[in-house]
Amino acid sequence: MDKNIRIAIIGGGPAGLSAGMYLEQKGYENYVIYEKSDHVGGKCHSPFHNGKRYEMGAIMGVPSYYAVHDIEVFAGITHDGPALNRDYQKPNGKMDHQFSTKRIWNLPHLLKLKKQIEKFGEILRADYKGYDICGHRGVSEGRYEGYAVAEDRHHVEGENPKLKDLCMTFKDFTDKLGVPLVREVWIQPFTSFGYGYFDEIPAAYVLKYLDFQTMMNFMHVNLWTWKDGTQSIYEALNAKLKHPALLEQNIEKVVRSEEGVVLTVNGKEEKFDKLIVTAPLQYFPEYADADEEEKELFSKIDYERYDTMAFLTNPENYPDRSRYIVDYMTPETLGHVMVYYHRWPESDQPLVTYVLRKHKNSKELDYEATKEQVKKDMAALGCPMKEIINEGKWYYFPHVFAEDYAAGWYEKVEAKQGNHSTYYAGEIMAFGDMDETVEYSRDLIERFF
Ligand SMILES: Cc1cc2nc3c(=O)[nH]c(=O)nc-3n(C[C@H](O)[C@H](O)[C@H](O)COP(=O)(O)OP(=O)(O)OC[C@H]3O[C@@H](n4cnc5c(N)ncnc54)[C@H](O)[C@@H]3O)c2cc1C
Repeated sequence: MDKNIRIAIIGGGPAGLSAGMYLEQKGYENYVIYEKSDHVGGKCHSPFHNGKRYEMGAIMGVPSYYAVHDIEVFAGITHDGPALNRDYQKPNGKMDHQFSTKRIWNLPHLLKLKKQIEKFGEILRADYKGYDICGHRGVSEGRYEGYAVAEDRHHVEGENPKLKDLCMTFKDFTDKLGVPLVREVWIQPFTSFGYGYFDEIPAAYVLKYLDFQTMMNFMHVNLWTWKDGTQSIYEALNAKLKHPALLEQNIEKVVRSEEGVVLTVNGKEEKFDKLIVTAPLQYFPEYADADEEEKELFSKIDYERYDTMAFLTNPENYPDRSRYIVDYMTPETLGHVMVYYHRWPESDQPLVTYVLRKHKNSKELDYEATKEQVKKDMAALGCPMKEIINEGKWYYFPHVFAEDYAAGWYEKVEAKQGNHSTYYAGEIMAFGDMDETVEYSRDLIERFF
């Protein structure tokens, strides 16, 4: 491809900014990134409070975040944030000791759990080759193609009919393999992180994010954070790009033809040869000349409603680590606090709550009613909300359901890559976490540019 082509990128989050970085690294320097808000980072949002940054969106990474590490190298930064740790708590505020090896009554169950985790790891390695590579192309047809989750990210591809099993929900998949207990640990960085319930979400999403390596890092609290917040990763990246994102850009229209792509941005027409869309695809037909197939496919995308609330409590109620409330990680307890996150030791710094307000089989809960529930939960958990300092309502984890996944949603969308001079990237194409979205941008640029 001619390296001088003009490329428009919609969205200045991890996917869009890293697409700019990978394009530059391949010698394409004629790109423009359009961001509609007044800052970069998207769901990596780290506001200031009393001189320090806290997290309203993304919090952490793990050592297998190779794509995020590409950005660290490019931008000259590192994961220099506070160490994370966690306790478990019952809804009434008592500590929950179900994962403590110090309680003798736990030991038989924990041993069984350990055995099932080991068995799960062995089965994934032996039978599901290719399960963990970034992106979903081929899975519903029993193929894999992409880059291995390894430091050198070597290219892998092949046939593996067993991969079709990943179209099942994670509950059905782990039942089929005879390892139902593993859900007790996989649920913690999944459901409580807003990604929904295991009886609704295809196993492919769960395992591409929480591949065995990532899950072990999570279990052993081998985690990365950034002192100035995850947003600072993308601010640093943006500052190093030859063409930093243009902010407060409203894309009013996208018209694609044989001659290329015309965007109407803040009332002005701009011409490009290629378009990369990292903004939510579900909304693409609202401002673009989407064809019938794009409209049909993108209408199948569902998402979660995930809310975060930053608050101060009384100094004497301030916990020394984050807390997980496992009893609230069920569909029946939708709208309750599943985690509250502790970042800084100073008691003038906020704690942040995480709550799901919608999932596949539920109506969206009312925001104000849920907020009242969160206040009650936090009082019962021993950290009454003295002052709420920020609220985040997220369009979260775009995905398709098991039936659409199995019917080849990803194969159909991947087959359209490049049609109308348009490429799709961002969360839906891989998974709603920093590393999968950035890795997918890398994969896309490798494949098509
Ligand atoms: C509460 C929360 C906790 C999380 N925790 C973690 C975590 O610990 N670890 C982790 O790895 N990930 C975490 N994530 C997920 C991670 O933040 C996202 O997966 C990642 O930011 C996705 O990147 P993206 O660029 O695809 O999308 P986004 O981050 O959503 O960025 C999309 C960008 O596009 C812009 N945009 C949208 N529409 C338009 C338009 N029409 N025109 C121009 N611009 C547009 C948006 O303003 C936004 O800046 C968390 C997210 C949230 C909300």
